[in-house]
Amino acid sequence: MPGLFARRLVLRSVRRLYAWSRADPVEEELRGWSWDRPPVKPRAYLGLGVSEVAGKYCPTRRDVWLRRKMGLAPETTEPLAKGRLVHEAVTAAVRCASRGLSRGWETWDILTYCLGRFRPQGNGDTATALKAYKSTLVTLLGEVEYERLVSGGSGLPVVSEMKVDGTPLGLSPQLSIDVYAENIVVDFKTGAPRDFHKLSIAGYALALEAEYEVPVDYGILVYVNPSDSGLRVLYRPVYVSNELRRWFLEERDEIVDMLVSNREPPKDKNCPQTCPFYRVCHQ
Ligand code: SF4
Repeated sequence: MPGLFARRLVLRSVRRLYAWSRADPVEEELRGWSWDRPPVKPRAYLGLGVSEVAGKYCPTRRDVWLRRKMGLAPETTEPLAKGRLVHEAVTAAVRCASRGLSRGWETWDILTYCLGRFRPQGNGDTATALKAYKSTLVTLLGEVEYERLVSGGSGLPVVSEMKVDGTPLGLSPQLSIDVYAENIVVDFKTGAPRDFHKLSIAGYALALEAEYEVPVDYGILVYVNPSDSGLRVLYRPVYVSNELRRWFLEERDEIVDMLVSNREPPKDKNCPQTCPFYRVCHQ
């Protein structure tokens, strides 16, 4: 089973995108630091989550309406619970490894310490969550050892659950990025890849650019799913192109307009039964 953070593999996949970025360089007006003027400047500051803008599971965006205007909480469906468990496992592993390294511990000691610390919460697929946790730890610490041997480096090459202020873009002041490494945004997903998943990479890249004024042009979607032999891990490198930036900003603007103008969206015609609001919309 490949590790979740095969860093060299990840970087190699991103390098394939360099040609795209040379052919389609990002326009200045679409950088996050252009937050004081359209199209990056929002029409209202509603503190939206990146997942609200990027999670286009409901085509009409009625889910955002139900949460924000009706004050309803989504039901915890099985796919949602499974996704949360794996997500929590991966980020917990990165956090624990990071803590041990910042204290100057040896990688073997960190591994021993961290392996005994993770207790998956809830009644979901805890075996998968444990596998994801162990796999992340082993790969991350393996990468650190490799760095030490090859270059004498000692740092963890990633920052997990990085907080970034999305306020200038009309987003939440407390956005949390799964992993940020070498100017690359990493976002974990479960389930089948969907084209709109790359919107989340664009949202975080824009927010990072607004806060730190450094270009963030690449991201990776990492899909973690159970398989017969353990875990299946899929990487999808993403170039944060002009088109993708515009798409994210348009989605943000549509949600802002819907909420500000008090326009209730209709139910979709093909609602999946796995939608956390299915019972609200179809009772
Ligand atoms: S049930 Fe349908 S309309 Fe309602 S939130 Fe879900 S996808 Fe949207």
